[in-house]
Amino acid sequence: SEGGGRKFSAAESICPFCGVGCGIQYNGAGKAAGWKGPVNTKGEICPKGAAAWDVVDHPDRLTVPLVREGRALVTAPWEEALDRVVEGFTRVRDEHGPDALAFFSSSNCTNEENYVLQKLARALGTNNVDNCARLCHSSTVAAMQDRLGAGAMTNSLDDLGEADVFFVIGANPADQHPIIFRSYLLPALKAGTKLVHVDPRASATTKAADIHLPVRPGYDIPLLNALAAVVVEEGLVDEAFVADRTEGFDAYREFLAAVDVDAAAEQAGVDPADLREVARLYGEADRVAAFTGMGMSQHHYGTENVHALINLALLTGNVGRRGTGVNPLRGQNNVQGAGDVGALPNVLPGYQSVTDDEARAHVAGVWGFEPPAIPGRTEVELTHAAGDTVHAAYVFGENPAVTEPNQGRVRESLERLDCLVVHDGFLTETAEFADVVLPGCLWAEKSGTVTNTDRQVMRMRANADPPGEARTDLDVLCTLADRLTDVDFSYDGPESVFDELTRAAPIYDGMSYDGIGTGSQRWPFQREEGKGTAVLHRDRFESGSKTAPFRVVEHVDPADSVEGDALVLTTGRVIQHFNSGALTRRSGTLMRMRGEDVLQVHPDDADERGIEDGARVVVENDRGRVEVAAEVTPAIRRGTVFMTFHYADPLANRLTGDALDPVAKIPEFKHSAVHVRVSAAS
Ligand code: SF4
Repeated sequence: SEGGGRKFSAAESICPFCGVGCGIQYNGAGKAAGWKGPVNTKGEICPKGAAAWDVVDHPDRLTVPLVREGRALVTAPWEEALDRVVEGFTRVRDEHGPDALAFFSSSNCTNEENYVLQKLARALGTNNVDNCARLCHSSTVAAMQDRLGAGAMTNSLDDLGEADVFFVIGANPADQHPIIFRSYLLPALKAGTKLVHVDPRASATTKAADIHLPVRPGYDIPLLNALAAVVVEEGLVDEAFVADRTEGFDAYREFLAAVDVDAAAEQAGVDPADLREVARLYGEADRVAAFTGMGMSQHHYGTENVHALINLALLTGNVGRRGTGVNPLRGQNNVQGAGDVGALPNVLPGYQSVTDDEARAHVAGVWGFEPPAIPGRTEVELTHAAGDTVHAAYVFGENPAVTEPNQGRVRESLERLDCLVVHDGFLTETAEFADVVLPGCLWAEKSGTVTNTDRQVMRMRANADPPGEARTDLDVLCTLADRLTDVDFSYDGPESVFDELTRAAPIYDGMSYDGIGTGSQRWPFQREEGKGTAVLHRDRFESGSKTAPFRVVEHVDPADSVEGDALVLTTGRVIQHFNSGALTRRSGTLMRMRGEDVLQVHPDDADERGIEDGARVVVENDRGRVEVAAEVTPAIRRGTVFMTFHYADPLANRLTGDALDPVAKIPEFKHSAVHVRVSAAS
């Protein structure tokens, strides 16, 4: 069919939203429909997936490049826009060196696009390349990589239904990964699997839970340590697994012996009897599958939170078997892949460290040049350095002017850049600060691969040509790379990029574009067997060792202290919207379902402040202030308020702080002290 002069088709593609990776395609009548993909095997999709077509032919789509003339962005021919990018980046590199350049890659773009962008950064002499995984699961990846040797789901969706218990902490799969919940977890729950939900906010996941532990935001470590202490106290340790597959148990056991379970439960804000019941479930069950989300990872000690969860899984022998494991639910359709292909400042494709001489030599054998050996800076660090030691930034499919914390500071930083290039499908909030805006493609115009939450690499096929004068993103990136460097970036389409990726990234070795077809190939791929590995760490950990270490994890206080009548703001997502909302706020269907944000307030906190349901309230702290309607509900625990980060107004990230995890450099989105009062306008 045709629309706006463009031809559309119904080729098998992948949903642009969450990390489940459902197969979707154009249905020929202005909507997206599911096809029977590797994950949504019956073709089922959620409301966001169904609305994915709304944005493809949207009147706000960028169709021509824009360049800044004074205060205005004006249309320009491609050659002029690209000249400006080349001139800006070359000047900054010549004047300040390659580490004055920053590249923000995208979890919402293909493996091939991310691969080319990180290679471009490295060809220019810097490892300053990162993607928005920094803001969601970088701490999870860091902890799992460190302890187990792979920063990804230990198991596959297919085997998780065999669990006796699902332990879901800091995640809400019923709303955020609806097809995983509906198609993989719910059938198991109906067949008797127990569900424990640990989250300060009751959600659709809680409705299906047998036990809900409404943990205080920021107090997961006391809770997880107390669970482990009860497991030891009650003789529920998997002694054989601990003896055979772990190290450092004596020191860990000694640490747990000193944990006062009742005091820890009180500190975590949960009923000690409920906590003990959950510990017994975890310790007595044959198979427990843990799922972890941003409630765990988005703290300035997010890495330590995940370490505490890994301890519990090791203690109970729940790693390396079907229906067990530690399973991060990844947020975006290619957040796993963006990291896999090396769009991270410390690792090359396949998580090979930039400081490892052999890894650099291996990659140099594929690229024809050696990447720099000094790790680059992370996304928020790069933003903070803007105008100081960073002077040019290429922002590809990201929207830091909504997604990063402490927006007052972020926006000042963006203003200070000499050359900001935004490459996106819409004029995002970040694009308003840009010197050059390049029209980008959305999911329906992309061909290439993406890697979902359980490590399945799947193919996207274009359902439409790029709109107007827009070009494919891969073409734009390769053209720029050819002009900015003396490295040959002339690929014969995404297939040839993927082929190079399989040679650069050992975990993708042996995969092929044709082999993926309309199915998937999973990493780590076993070339000899011609298939991927569903359950990791079976006989050896991916680290190469037979054993994984225990680690003593102590509680760390959140960065913001909560004093006087302050409440704790925790931010998150809802089923109708996605991340910065750049796409979903442009969907009429989704905006009709949830047009504006609300602040969830517990009835007791509302009473104390005279807040009635629906009243406008001011939420403020010394970083910023927003106004929003209140939803008075017992779904949120007392002392805590919740709003999403999907809207530009109210912009929740005006209130969040920029304390970073020392290892993963993830910000603390889940705990900000705020004051809430009725607005004078109410
Ligand atoms: Fe898209 Fe995720 Fe919904 Fe599937 S579950 S349709 S991948 S948003």
